[in-house]
Amino acid sequence: MTVLAVAEHRRGDLRDVSFELVTAGRELAADLETDLAVAVIAGDVEGFAEALNREGVDTIYTVANGEEFNHGVYAGAIKELCAELDPTALLLPNSVNGLDYAPAVAGALELPLVTDVIDIESGEPVEVVREQYGGKVETAYEVDSERYALTLRATEWPPAESPGDATIEAFDVDVDEDALGTTVKGFEEVASGDVDITDADVLVSVGRGIGEEENIPLVEELADALDATLSSSRPIVDNGWLPQNRQVGQSGKVVTPDVYVAVGISGAVQHVAGMKGADTIVAINSDPNAPIYDIADYGIVDDLFEVVPQVIEAFGGQ
Ligand code: FAD
Repeated sequence: MTVLAVAEHRRGDLRDVSFELVTAGRELAADLETDLAVAVIAGDVEGFAEALNREGVDTIYTVANGEEFNHGVYAGAIKELCAELDPTALLLPNSVNGLDYAPAVAGALELPLVTDVIDIESGEPVEVVREQYGGKVETAYEVDSERYALTLRATEWPPAESPGDATIEAFDVDVDEDALGTTVKGFEEVASGDVDITDADVLVSVGRGIGEEENIPLVEELADALDATLSSSRPIVDNGWLPQNRQVGQSGKVVTPDVYVAVGISGAVQHVAGMKGADTIVAINSDPNAPIYDIADYGIVDDLFEVVPQVIEAFGGQ
């Protein structure tokens, strides 16, 4: 019995979800009274293994094969690791990469796979929680199997921080390069634009409540008055009113500013996934039942076109 978590990295950096998987794996391994193993595949595996050596990790398996994610390498390595370790639980990131290889691995190993898990209640059988209907309900599933694979949603577990004393072991995998099917040829950087919203201390974030593109300058003025950076919910980006690098949320960026001012944003679960870590959340929304008020520290239930000009004026704007 082992819990095996698979780390994720991109372009030389371990992704935060790797450390969140360590936390989830540590909790599950403790409940099951078993070990936690972490696998890191491709890239600077030795450097990654050192970084992943956090409290509760017993063994880190390094698979030195290629530089970046490759479906064939990941699927092959994880299958071989599972053949060796026979893990009870295989924990994978619910990311683009994780969702690429998780079904292949689970299918090959005949493991039940539950994706986008936000909580795990160990027991017999283990119970996992997912969201349904766009996050309106949470559903608990019993996984009626001794062995199972789960993909875990990012930001649902705190990242493991304390250093550990894991054993680091190189794990050799025999990958037939010719049979891989896909090869990473290189990367082309998408222009990230002028700002990085993940660096901002204060964010003013605009949502569909703004109505029209011609109203965007109003929130730009608010951001200027508050010395803040402008970000947005997804519909604003989908409409082409702001560039993609401004989008907060599940398919945008995860931000943790000191202050997050949500203007005309309903607080859909996919948006909240990207900003719930803000220290102070202020919402301006005319609907008192908007879900954003469930997580807001301060709220102004009113028409943003009434409120925003007053805030700009109060903070010395025009
Ligand atoms: P709405 O939900 O339409 O809310 C607008 C709000 O403005 C309402 O609450 C309304 O009361 C308020 N309002 C209207 N007029 C006024 C006014 N005059 N004054 C004050 N308030 C007003 N969304 C993201 O944001 N980020 C993501 O990364 C993301 N990823 C997604 C991934 C997937 C797979 C899916 C399915 C969806 C994703 N979404 C994402 C979309 C998400 O489900 C919501 O549709 C989106 O967040 C809603 O954006 P909104 O709050 O701006 O708009």
